[in-house]
Amino acid sequence: MPEPANHTFHVTMDWKAGNGDSTRLKLPDWQPGYYQLMDYASNIDKLVVKDENDNALRWVKSGRNGWAVATKGVRSLHAEYDVKTARKFVATSYLDEEHGYITPVSMFMHEAGKLKMPSEVTIKPYNSWDRVATGLDSVAGKSFTYRAPDFDILYDSPLLTGNLEELRAFEVKGIPHRFIGYKLGDFDRTRLMSDIQKIVEKSSALIGDIPYKHYTFIAIGPGQGGIEHLNSTTISFSGDQLNSRGWNGMLRFITHEYFHHYNVKRIRPVELGPFDYDKGSRTNMLWVSEGLTVYYEPLIMRAAGLMGEQELLDLFKKQIADVETKPGRFFQTLAQASAETWSDGPFGRTGDAVNKTISYYQKGPVVGLLFDLAIRYETKNKRSLDDVMRKLYQDFYIKKNRGFTEAELRSTIEAIAGTKLDELFSYIYTTAEPDYKKYLGYAGLDIDVTTDTHYGTFEITKMASPSALQREIFRSWSRGD
Ligand SMILES: [Zn+2]
Repeated sequence: MPEPANHTFHVTMDWKAGNGDSTRLKLPDWQPGYYQLMDYASNIDKLVVKDENDNALRWVKSGRNGWAVATKGVRSLHAEYDVKTARKFVATSYLDEEHGYITPVSMFMHEAGKLKMPSEVTIKPYNSWDRVATGLDSVAGKSFTYRAPDFDILYDSPLLTGNLEELRAFEVKGIPHRFIGYKLGDFDRTRLMSDIQKIVEKSSALIGDIPYKHYTFIAIGPGQGGIEHLNSTTISFSGDQLNSRGWNGMLRFITHEYFHHYNVKRIRPVELGPFDYDKGSRTNMLWVSEGLTVYYEPLIMRAAGLMGEQELLDLFKKQIADVETKPGRFFQTLAQASAETWSDGPFGRTGDAVNKTISYYQKGPVVGLLFDLAIRYETKNKRSLDDVMRKLYQDFYIKKNRGFTEAELRSTIEAIAGTKLDELFSYIYTTAEPDYKKYLGYAGLDIDVTTDTHYGTFEITKMASPSALQREIFRSWSRGD
């Protein structure tokens, strides 16, 4: 990081050459978790590749994100290049005189076809910067040096450096959880860490397993957005934001990013790993990966004692209103919104086409609610969506180490429910209007679905005299006493 004022990183790479006459270097074109092509390769500048005798090798650009280097007879390779940065954003690297944020997909090239190659990364922080935050394992005895067993792990492990602040770490089941950030601002640090600890405890209790050896919350500074990783998350964060967005708004966001290490990183659609770093990985199931992650935010917080019953009901009221007040629901299904996010954008199309799309962040949690209540009703409250999440985790991530297909997801849900759920799946694959009254009724809830009145419809209220089963479903669903 010799030139932070120019926002430019400098990278050197050394590795053993293969046998071919030509070696293709590549940089991913996207960051898994942010489903947009980013053209990271366009930020690469001044690429020089040399052999073991310091002879410069010829190279030509090869495709949108590749470089073909002439390597006949070469034994080892050394590459150097600059990475220009311009945007402070969770999916892009950024360097200035106060901090450096590295999204490895935009920084470290790999040799085509050799994603399984292990790597060691040494960060040389600018000036007096004394800390690096990352989920990577450090190499003993070497400062700021980290090891990745393959490029999938390297690309999943962002790094932050600067004059950072680390809050007091906590352990859950003996596993350390750290929170390190840049420009954290003014807020109650003890309270934040205490709340995050409860969120980690309730999330991991829900799935029943903690699959990592350590976890790091990496706060990259003020802004919007976060990205989930296997044993870390990068979140936009500042104390001021915490105050303006509201304490619980920020906690919901942190819960979301944390719960993703289960739902999408491990409990995942079959298309989302291994990733296609060139073209992007398209799936119909972001309503599961994003939508159900949003669905679980308030439920986990409620279980952690961080949210009241009325706040919970108000949140679902708002989510239903967000879906039902947008005409896009007549044009695009949830499955389509998932698959088309690559062209529509993360929250649907904008401009003239804004009314033709929906957001899986909005309709996803709403159908999650209906599925959960239906499973509880069909099983006399013996099973719930939690059982589906645990079964997907056990059957696919633990036993098969792969994602699930749409058919496998459906058969898992219907096996837990003990019945076909055709109507609910029509809310995924068609634009059929959800029968809110029926499904909320299972939990003894009523909903005002009149849409031709003033703002304030979709109010959710508790029925005056629910049956024993309705009362029991509501109590366990809402994590009440
Ligand atoms: Zn998310």
